[in-house]
Amino acid sequence: MNIDKTDITLTILGSGTCVTSLERSSCSVLAETGESRNLIDCGPGTMRRLLENGTQIHDISHILLSHFHPDHTGELAAFLFANKYPDGRRRKNPLSIIGGKGMADFYAGLKNVYGCWIDLEPNRLNIVELPREKSAINLNDIMLESVHVEHNEESLAFRITGNSGHSFVYSGDTDFCESLINIARETDLFICESAMPDEFKVKGHLTPSAAGEIAALAKVKKLLLTHFYPECDKVDIETQCRKTYQGPLVLGRDLMKIYLAPS
Ligand SMILES: [Zn+2]
Ligand SMILES: [Zn+2]
Repeated sequence: MNIDKTDITLTILGSGTCVTSLERSSCSVLAETGESRNLIDCGPGTMRRLLENGTQIHDISHILLSHFHPDHTGELAAFLFANKYPDGRRRKNPLSIIGGKGMADFYAGLKNVYGCWIDLEPNRLNIVELPREKSAINLNDIMLESVHVEHNEESLAFRITGNSGHSFVYSGDTDFCESLINIARETDLFICESAMPDEFKVKGHLTPSAAGEIAALAKVKKLLLTHFYPECDKVDIETQCRKTYQGPLVLGRDLMKIYLAPS
């Protein structure tokens, strides 16, 4: 495949949850776009998966946090600490950590616990707090849009669009909501949580058929389901999703790659 430098290469680093699993690490996706290395969520096990992918932590330019639950943020302090080894100079570019309402307080809380152990070199760390309302900012060579979704107060879904116009949407954790349908509209790839099978629906999360319904309403071009609790691996997720969605469907696995390339 001819990969243009403006394309987006996605790697599912963790397709799991808070449950420990050798097959499914906690939540994280790597989006490589031109010069940017964007990490979306940073659950436990993320740094090991990055190594398995051949990616150095010093090359990550942005960390986007969908919300602050530990299965999405648990390795953030360790990530910052690891950036100091051996002396912090391996990081050539600043790191931006981007999250929803309370992001600055969340980082201040980590600083309160870990102090200077999670400091980077001066001018090497930016903390960015996004509003609940729909917003759009430019990050190097991509456009980042975000909107609040139904899970926690700070929860955001992200839409990332590269220079070539290709986009993907990351749901974060969420229940069924209009804002997710709207931000996902006609995206090339919709990475959507499907935490529990249809028969075990829990508040604040989606199921395969609910994720499929959102994908169908938003007319996405491809749906990738992820964030599977072990219950999901005991049922036929694809059949459940097909009740509501007939388009291209991928079931997430750790270290799976998806290329968004010009056709
Ligand atoms: Zn959560
Ligand atoms: Zn979660």
